Amino acid sequence: MSYDEARSALDEWRAAYPEDPFSTDERLRAILNGALKGKRKRALEASASTFARAMVTVVGPAAARYEQRSHLPELERYDGVGHRREAVSFDPAYHEAGAAVWASEVVALSRLPGRAYEQATLLYLLSLEGEAGHACPATCTIGLARALRRRADASVRERFLAPLVDPHYAQAQRGAQFLTEVQGGSDVGANACVAVDEGDGSYRITGEKWFCSVADADQFFVTARVGDTTGTAGLGSFVVPRLIDGRPNGFTLRRLKDKLGTRGLASGEIDFADARAWPIGPVDEGFKTAVSVVLNTSRWMTAVGSTGIMRRAVLEARAYARVRRAFGVTIENFADVRRTVADMTAQWAGALHLVFALTAMEDRIDDETASENDRLYHRFLVNATKFVASRQATSVARAGIEVLGGNGTIEEFSVLPRLYRDAIVYESWEGTHNVLVAQVLHDLRRLAILDVVEARLLTVLEGASDATLAGALRERLVAMLLTVRRCRDDEEFGAWHFRDALEQLGILAEAVYAAGAGETPAATHLLYEYATPGYEAASDAGLMARVSALVGS
Ligand SMILES: Cc1cc2nc3c(=O)[nH]c(=O)nc-3n(C[C@H](O)[C@H](O)[C@H](O)COP(=O)(O)OP(=O)(O)OC[C@H]3O[C@@H](n4cnc5c(N)ncnc54)[C@H](O)[C@@H]3O)c2cc1C
Repeated sequence: MSYDEARSALDEWRAAYPEDPFSTDERLRAILNGALKGKRKRALEASASTFARAMVTVVGPAAARYEQRSHLPELERYDGVGHRREAVSFDPAYHEAGAAVWASEVVALSRLPGRAYEQATLLYLLSLEGEAGHACPATCTIGLARALRRRADASVRERFLAPLVDPHYAQAQRGAQFLTEVQGGSDVGANACVAVDEGDGSYRITGEKWFCSVADADQFFVTARVGDTTGTAGLGSFVVPRLIDGRPNGFTLRRLKDKLGTRGLASGEIDFADARAWPIGPVDEGFKTAVSVVLNTSRWMTAVGSTGIMRRAVLEARAYARVRRAFGVTIENFADVRRTVADMTAQWAGALHLVFALTAMEDRIDDETASENDRLYHRFLVNATKFVASRQATSVARAGIEVLGGNGTIEEFSVLPRLYRDAIVYESWEGTHNVLVAQVLHDLRRLAILDVVEARLLTVLEGASDATLAGALRERLVAMLLTVRRCRDDEEFGAWHFRDALEQLGILAEAVYAAGAGETPAATHLLYEYATPGYEAASDAGLMARVSALVGS
């Protein structure tokens, strides 16, 4: 093959990326078709298609620029005449992308209850570029807006909510959320930051926050200790405006962090000294607000984002395998390449189904139509899905890099290195794996969640078109639930084995939803390759046909 032929194959691969990655995403569209009807569905399809096109023409090229090391955000501590600003400056391309993201209304929809399908779809499309510098700011703003809408007193809500849900990027305010301190992020109850009551409805916050993403935000959600308290019970949730009378509100930005991934957005370390703050909801319920609204919103959105990362990796790898030639054939002819692409596709498909099962619960909780069982199911799903999907995203992005070979490691060749770096960050923020696992186990021990999980998954299986697959999944699910129950009831056994059990259960849940949607190849692949101990591909007569179906899907 000549140089020109090799290069034109690469051109063909690049050109294969769709102009509208929403309209061509049949899997996502089928999920939305099943969940939404009429005007709401049509409105979402139209806005998703418009945003998907903007992702290709505006956000993607902009992110490729501002994510380069030479264009990262910079701290601007002072203005030209020496006033402290504590500001962050960005490459202009960052703001071009931000304008397109905000115009999609992914954030502005937070003004209304029950728009979870819309927000998940838009964030998934945004995540086709990885974090892209704006998925975290959008998520933090959505979480803060929800906390203000659901939990704050009217006066606080009226003052802070409206600017957060403005769709015009240039004038909209953005939110951030600061819980983590240098002594630990998982153990939020170790927070030492204090809030002192001013007696006029406001507080003064003093202390350090160690991981502050969206350090340029206009409003900070901050956890701080009220009174002489210890543990999570003493933590209040507050909104801290960045500026008061045009000047930094009692904070200094120590430095911006040099991160492995999510590099386009500014993450810093912030010291607060008597910053004015207003409580979001009762101060003695601050931890509840932080976890049940803010962190759970972020966990849901991180799971959604992980799924978008997987979708992009699948698209890149599959198109590349079709045009890249080695040893006289395109590499999709090699069984090992086909199996890798099939593994990637099954994981993306399963995660997408599970993420939208979670999104259905988010939608109901946010518009206050959720039943008690919906809330219990959500409690399980939000932690389990973030845990499983974020691990899969790293593995799928890495597999995509493998399919592209050496080219896959090159930053200017494809988006894959960025997806991989971002996916690894997604694994840690908003709750590390072990913390999510511990949270689920704690919940199972306190609440009758497991019966709800079992009943819901078995109901989904009843709708599966492939009876043999449904039977195999049911059998494996029932066996897995026995192990989970033992983890719940036996403390030591649970401490040693629950993480493995939850991972298996999460993947089985993905397979169950895929089977329920009639996706037999993806569901079977997930069941055998990822949730059946002792599975041997060599004895699997259905492997070749299943891989072919997945590679083509
Ligand atoms: C790029 C980036 C941006 C971030 N932005 C923000 C932000 O804007 N706001 C914010 O508040 N935080 C932010 N974080 C912090 C993030 O939420 C924390 O990193 C995370 O919560 C984990 O805390 P930690 O890093 O202190 O790890 P640690 O809590 O020290 O945990 C270290 C290890 O111990 C394990 N571990 C801890 N407790 C247990 C347990 N009970 N059982 C088993 N294992 C356990 C953890 O799973 C982990 O593997 C950001 C992080 C990153 C990487």
